[in-house]
Amino acid sequence: MSVPAEWRPEDDLAEVLVTEAALTRRVAELGRQISSDYQGMELLLVGVLKGAVMFLVDLARQIRRPVELDFMAISSYGASTQSSGIVRILKDLDESVEGRHVLIVEDIVDSGLTLAYILRTLRARQPASLKVCGLLVKDGARGEEAPVDYVGFEIPNRFVVGYGLDYAEAYRNLPYVAVLKPELYRDPD
Ligand code: 5GP
Repeated sequence: MSVPAEWRPEDDLAEVLVTEAALTRRVAELGRQISSDYQGMELLLVGVLKGAVMFLVDLARQIRRPVELDFMAISSYGASTQSSGIVRILKDLDESVEGRHVLIVEDIVDSGLTLAYILRTLRARQPASLKVCGLLVKDGARGEEAPVDYVGFEIPNRFVVGYGLDYAEAYRNLPYVAVLKPELYRDPD
């Protein structure tokens, strides 16, 4: 596939919701809070592929505690922008979580279905503790089913890309979070 010599992703965006500077600031704050909450403990950060990768690597570097990393991949929207409600593990963790202090690192919580599924799955494996750090939580996310212990930003219920989040695998490498122009996608009815 050929790409124009100059890549201009900003032409595809309606609005930047979270700037690069705001991300840097908030990730450092979350790192400080997590470091203080987990004093004397070793943490296992569980990243949800692929969207949480940028956030996880930045967050890990702001945590002043011993940290191990593991990853799981869950089926999500595919190339659509609506949650299907059907959640499936595509890649499971490499390590056991039994007796460990586990912090799930999520890119975005929308309906909360994905997170609720991950929480149920990992809780059954008997970690010493299980908490969630979500970079973005959309208005209307169902907190009872999928509580988020550490929230980066609450955002309006719009489809966003950047800082790990994609649309059909594109835009993950934008260093900020932005709303994609709705005319660039069409939700299946
Ligand atoms: P939920 O199960 O909470 O409805 O959706 C969670 C997953 O859907 C996220 O991990 C992410 O992969 C995807 N998702 C939800 N909202 C958005 C969005 O605004 N933009 C992108 N790129 N993905 C989203």
